[in-house]
This record gives sequence, structure tokens and C-alpha cells, in this order.
Amino acid sequence: MADDQPFPPGARRAVRPTAVIDCPACGELAGRGYPTCLVCAELVDQFWTLDWRPLVEVAGLPELELAELVLLEDVGKLPWTCTDVAMTLLRCPACGAELGTGDLPCLRCRVADENRWAWDHMGYPTRMTGNEHAMRVARMVLRAPHRHRETIVQGWRLTMPFLLLGELPTTSQAQRIRAHVLAERYDELARCRSLRELAGLPSVPWRKEV
Ligand SMILES: [Zn+2]
Ligand SMILES: [Zn+2]
Repeated sequence: MADDQPFPPGARRAVRPTAVIDCPACGELAGRGYPTCLVCAELVDQFWTLDWRPLVEVAGLPELELAELVLLEDVGKLPWTCTDVAMTLLRCPACGAELGTGDLPCLRCRVADENRWAWDHMGYPTRMTGNEHAMRVARMVLRAPHRHRETIVQGWRLTMPFLLLGELPTTSQAQRIRAHVLAERYDELARCRSLRELAGLPSVPWRKEV
């Protein structure tokens, strides 16, 4: 499997959309309904499945068997997307949840989730872009929201549609978006249609400095 490519890129086979769209199924900006809205789920997961499918074809194994093998591979030998799909397919032997997404006390899930990030430590920034890393984090957080603070989940949910376009908030944009989320302004933020708008939400009147 890709011996000549110690760091095959992940999530680069799908063509990025050029603009955000309203999801016809859930009405949110497409991607925000992940993973419960099936249309949003497909839109996000296409970046992962386009790497996974060829691997399945080459391997010629049942998917669950392949998933087990993928997690035993050396880090970086396969695209990170394939690690994620393998974890999505497998159940945690200890708690029964999707591997890596069980409730926080589950040690097996914690170890599996921590191991997944080894790719990012090794691949970033030359073999994995900041946008790809952010997409990976966003997908993982939205698949296991109970493992994270609500404000973190909201931040990634708000950002996901723009990550799909290939965008990445700057550090200062991310800080401002986070501040707005912490101020419980999710509904206002959800109406914004660009990262610039999300980060540029005006202060509420009573907070304005005089
Ligand atoms: Zn949707
Ligand atoms: Zn578990």
C-alpha cells in the first residue's frame, strides 16, 4: 500500500465547492448538519470516502477487516482520511461506541483518539495543510460532541462550511469567533455567510466602549 509515498495526502481528491450553499435537507449552511443530516454528512464525508474507496478496491478485503489493518499501519503510510474512516467503521471493544467517540472515561477510545493525531504531528505543515488539519478536527468533534465543551462544538459547527471551501480562519478570526460563541451569540453567527462576517460580528451595544 503506497510504499513509495510515506505521506500520501488526504482529502485532496474531491473538488472543493466554490461557495457556501444552504443545505436543502436541514436548512443550515451545508456542512453544519454533520453528521445527523445525511446531505451534510455526505458533503463532508466525500473527502474521506474518495480516499477510502480506492484502498478498499486495492485491498480486496471486507471493509471491517481492512479497517483493522489500516489502524495497525505505520503512521503516515496511508492518508489520514483512511485512518478516520477505519475508526468510523470500527466499534470500540470496551464501550461499543464508534472507535474513539465513546464517553470520556473509556480508555480505549481515548487512546484510539490520541493515536489518530500522530499523523498531524508528523505531516503538518508539509504533507497536511492547516485547512486539512482543521477539517479533520471539525469532523472528529462533530462526530463526538459529548467529548467536548459545547462552545468548542459550536465553533467547529459554525466553521465547517468554510473549511469545506478550503478556507481557514486566521488566528485573530478564530479568536473573535470564539469570543462571539462564548458570548452565546450562536444564532447571530449562524446567519453569517463568510468567515470574515463570522469574525466581524459587531459588538453588542451594551458592550461598546465609550
Ligand atoms: Zn444538512
Ligand atoms: Zn470506547
